Amino acid sequence: MRTPEARRVFNFCAGPAAIAESVLEEARADMLSYRGSGMSVMEISHRSALADDLFEEAEANLRRLLGVPKNYRVLFLQGGGSQQFSMVPMNFLRSDESAEYILTGHWGAKAIGQAGLEGTPHVAWSGEEERFVRVPENAELDLLERSAYTYFTSNETIQGVQFDAEPTGLSPLVCDASSDFLSRPVEIDRFGLLYACAQKNAGPSGLTVVIISDEMLDRTKPNLHRMFDYREHAAAGSRLNTPPMFSVYLFLLITRWIEQDMGGLSALAVHNQAKADTLYARLDRQSDFYTTHAKPTSRSIMNVTFRTPSAELDAEFLAAAKRRDLTHLAGHRSVGGMRASIYNAMPVAGVEALCELLDEFRDAHQ
Ligand SMILES: *Cc1c(COP(=O)(O)O)cnc(C)c1O
Repeated sequence: MRTPEARRVFNFCAGPAAIAESVLEEARADMLSYRGSGMSVMEISHRSALADDLFEEAEANLRRLLGVPKNYRVLFLQGGGSQQFSMVPMNFLRSDESAEYILTGHWGAKAIGQAGLEGTPHVAWSGEEERFVRVPENAELDLLERSAYTYFTSNETIQGVQFDAEPTGLSPLVCDASSDFLSRPVEIDRFGLLYACAQKNAGPSGLTVVIISDEMLDRTKPNLHRMFDYREHAAAGSRLNTPPMFSVYLFLLITRWIEQDMGGLSALAVHNQAKADTLYARLDRQSDFYTTHAKPTSRSIMNVTFRTPSAELDAEFLAAAKRRDLTHLAGHRSVGGMRASIYNAMPVAGVEALCELLDEFRDAHQ
């Protein structure tokens, strides 16, 4: 039996997000002495053999999970998803050039803002007028003949809209995959660069994973500040300065967990789809009471956005959820309502508990 202080909740937070309990237990077991070193992983030198092993295995596991081709580099960086909004244009967008941005929500808009400091972002499609309820069809994209890259957000975390398959650009694809990274298989060779901050599906905050093709790396602009230059990080094996050791370590444990406990990305994708299907089906069955934000064809498997008939009932729903230890279900202030983030580490039991509340709350309030 756990003490009340040690109880676990079903955490629906969009990020930092739930981490599998077995991973946390393992980290706890390693806490005082990492691999017999007599030190925690946060206390060992990032230039030590133990650190070399850690980085090597983390990269090898990721390469195996995603089938990362040989001509791609894997970088472990800091600065979160937000730093990539800047690093992408700093490295690839020259002042006299345009880059395509497909705008499907909150995070894409942030990225466009930073791109404008380097060159000219061209919005190939925007869902803003429709209040970001869907992603575009490829035929809807208004693409320039020449552009430095085509940028999109595979899953817009706040609105809960997700690309089922990546769009086709006329220039190398750059993807912010922060909130659906490692939730399903991806064909890496379709991208010039794909990045994700870890704190949604792949670890704690502090780590951002970048997967970049050699060809893209060759396009990097000269004379960049070292810490913002992909080439420098690649040349230094992601240890240009002190890396976030604990975050990389947890990322390593999570890659093992995905492979060994969850059966790899294909199996995990089936599992994630089933959780999302269960939740959307329950919402749809009660569409007289609950409405979903995203159009059915663009619904996110990771972030399920919905509301009750009124803001007052939304607040009551959140309070009722809290009483059942279903936490962090409030939607982002720009969208309102509720958002259930059901990333890799959300167990089926958490989704079922939420479904039960959906039924009971509607029965009590309609
Ligand atoms: C969370 C998130 C970000 C921002 O990440 P930070 O690490 O907080 O900078 C960017 N893009 C997407 C899609 C996200 O979900």
